[in-house]
Amino acid sequence: MGARCKLCGGEASYHLDHAGMSLCSECFTRYYERKVYKTIRKHGMLRGARRVAAAVSGGKDSVALIGVLHKLMREAFREVELVAIHVDLGIPGYSEECRRIVEKVCGDLGLELHVLDLREAEGYGVPDFANTPFRKRMCGACGTVKRYHTNRMAYELGADRLATGHNLDDVVEILFELYLKGAVEEIVRMRPVSWSDHPKLVTRIKPLIELTDRENLFYVLARGLPLLEARCPLVGESRMLRRKKLIEEIEGAIPGFRHTFYKTHLKRFLPRLEKTVEEPRLAECEVCGMPSLGRVCSYCKLVSKLRKAGARSPRPRA
Ligand code: AMP
Ligand code: ZN
Repeated sequence: MGARCKLCGGEASYHLDHAGMSLCSECFTRYYERKVYKTIRKHGMLRGARRVAAAVSGGKDSVALIGVLHKLMREAFREVELVAIHVDLGIPGYSEECRRIVEKVCGDLGLELHVLDLREAEGYGVPDFANTPFRKRMCGACGTVKRYHTNRMAYELGADRLATGHNLDDVVEILFELYLKGAVEEIVRMRPVSWSDHPKLVTRIKPLIELTDRENLFYVLARGLPLLEARCPLVGESRMLRRKKLIEEIEGAIPGFRHTFYKTHLKRFLPRLEKTVEEPRLAECEVCGMPSLGRVCSYCKLVSKLRKAGARSPRPRA
């Protein structure tokens, strides 16, 4: 006989390793939604919010994100409006599939979706970075592009929050690397909410920060949301994936490792670091006018490398 659900005694579908319990599909869905609700309340993520832009890549995490936010905003945060945004990165054989999933999930939920097609709007796609000095750091370049455009889209849509699907595994993987390097200025930025007082930088929230990779996958399956099967052809066997595997091994030997690591960071280190590390002052980029640490923002620097490499004239926006 299969395992029984710890909450209702029905047939269990999912086993949560870190919590040591099995749940049926219905109880799991309730557990998941309650956990996201509590994370949002605990960190005041939606306090005073009117419009949330959810960044949806098509991957399981952000599909789970849009699914759970859509539900919570109908039930608990009724005063908040939800819109979805997607950046089509122009990666052949992959981006089409991501976009199809995003359009399907937003269509099924009846959500307003805004898509930025990089090739159409900016005249280049992420693969074009292969002809620039960023060829060895394609994921880093892609990350800059995604951060810039999701913020820009959220800002132009008048959103006061930008929600991303970063989960516990992502955050622990990044923290692991940052603590190893002692990158204090970056460690201090790893928060559930990145409050912004710059008018063009939208406050970022991570409502799934306490949920694991597996839990997000379960939620997508339990709700019958579409699941992306394609993998980005540009990623390869990255250091990030190797670190994630290593963390899984540690979790096997020390159950609850990820939760403990994250909580220690949040409760013990962050409050002390916040007192000593100064927030960088943001100016406006001379080229595009968006927030920037230096005279020219990292996105405009990236795009200028494309232009030097002779890619199809990327268009800077005024
Ligand atoms: P990643 O950096 O790919 O791990 O993605 C982290 C989060 O960024 C995702 O959960 C999404 O919320 C957002 N994101 C990533 N790629 C895209 C995209 N192409 N369009 C919109 N949002 C994205
Ligand atoms: Zn710029």
